[in-house]
Amino acid sequence: MKCATIKNGEECAFMAESGCSYKDGRCYPVVEKCEGCERIKEYGGEKYCTSYPEPAVKWAHGACNFATHVKATVDKSGQVKINPLKASKRAARGR
Ligand code: SF4
Repeated sequence: MKCATIKNGEECAFMAESGCSYKDGRCYPVVEKCEGCERIKEYGGEKYCTSYPEPAVKWAHGACNFATHVKATVDKSGQVKINPLKASKRAARGR
């Protein structure tokens, strides 16, 4: 259904006849770690994720799996490592 709250007019799985069914009836702005992701879109002067209603949750346990700007890998010790995609491409080009 189309959102009638923050992302007004956008198709959203959380929208229902009775209103937004997500936590407290709304979605939440992106977090600092989202910066650089292509899924960010501005609504009413605030940045939101077009794929997920609460970006902070996506980053709570490692890297967001929808992110377009980073890729998470798990090293031998089980630590999650976050690799910036664009920065590594720039480095590969030599500048
Ligand atoms: S896809 Fe993930 S990293 Fe990108 S804006 Fe959404 S929550 Fe943030």
